Amino acid sequence: MNPSATPPRHAYVHVPFCRHRCGYCDFTLLAGRDDLVGRYLTALQRELERVAEPLAIDTLYLGGGTPSHLGPDGLERLFGILNQRLRLGAGAEVSLEANPLDVTAALVSKLGTVGATRVSLGGQSLDAATLRALDRDHDPDDVRRAASMLLAAGLHVNLDLMTAAPGQSLAAVEADLDSAASLGVHHVSVYCLTWEQGTAFESARRRGDLRQADERLERAMFEAAIDRLEGAGYEQYEVSNFARAGGRCRHNEAYWDCRPWEGFGPGAARFDGFTRITNHRSTTTWMDRVLSGRDFAGEVDAMTAEDAARERIVVGLRRRDGIDRTAFRQATGFAVDALAAEALRRWVAAGLATSAGDRIRLTREGMLVSDSLWADVLRG
Ligand code: SF4
Repeated sequence: MNPSATPPRHAYVHVPFCRHRCGYCDFTLLAGRDDLVGRYLTALQRELERVAEPLAIDTLYLGGGTPSHLGPDGLERLFGILNQRLRLGAGAEVSLEANPLDVTAALVSKLGTVGATRVSLGGQSLDAATLRALDRDHDPDDVRRAASMLLAAGLHVNLDLMTAAPGQSLAAVEADLDSAASLGVHHVSVYCLTWEQGTAFESARRRGDLRQADERLERAMFEAAIDRLEGAGYEQYEVSNFARAGGRCRHNEAYWDCRPWEGFGPGAARFDGFTRITNHRSTTTWMDRVLSGRDFAGEVDAMTAEDAARERIVVGLRRRDGIDRTAFRQATGFAVDALAAEALRRWVAAGLATSAGDRIRLTREGMLVSDSLWADVLRG
């Protein structure tokens, strides 16, 4: 792939504001610093000037942080800025992450005005004890109310669910999954709690105040997610993502296809097919550097063609559709089997993958242990 020949048609914008920092979260964000929203928007407008000509975009994803925390007026200002440089075509998917507490009638109405088509609701659970254990600032009824308002407005809705929360039982996860399906959302993302350095949860775990779920329980929760959601009509189209017919997230599919994408805001990454540039993760540093005309890149990951092809194997196999050998060769110039013959042979022998004709896929067992497989491919 020649990176310069394929302008990105996908854009991510990072909105780094939350009302409250959840104890497990290490994302790029400022909690309780709404006084900086104006400066952030000014810096975002300046960063967007990197794009010389308005960019035709098929998918736009506003993540964070909590984009909905900007409220109706803030979202109008944000989209006013984005629309100066990003041209959203008819049929574009425009997603935004939302906290259930922010979903009011005024916000839903504004989502329609600015052209949002999809909302990813950070619900995490529909169980009061689990939400408390996760240090969330909303209760189960807030999630139900928000989902039903968004669905009634004709938006596509994703619900994020978390498993392996402190003290969470398998029965609680099963109840969450059934409740999520009964809400009628189009898409459910299920993630296992991770214990990140520097978070309040990780400090509490080290002190012995919180306990991480054991691996067998984590696995049983993941199996429950696959069984319950597939039983309710959701297809597991990627390891952590489940969608009803027509409900897949097109923006994430662009990432997994390794298509080029743009990224704006603190900690946001952009990718041209080989090089991934990630903006400085500190919101205040990113703002200072953008506004004073200095370099605001935090990390530059320049991959060789072979590195990029190996990464494509990983994101391809995380998907239910797997990898098509011919399409892979056409996209990368490499044969999958030349890069990963030994790993594939072992996985197929162990029942973790199937290889039939041109198509390589992980099995259910392979999906369950996928994170432990990738080092074999990326090692080179
Ligand atoms: S609402 Fe989301 S982004 Fe904000 S602190 Fe909690 S987990 Fe992190």
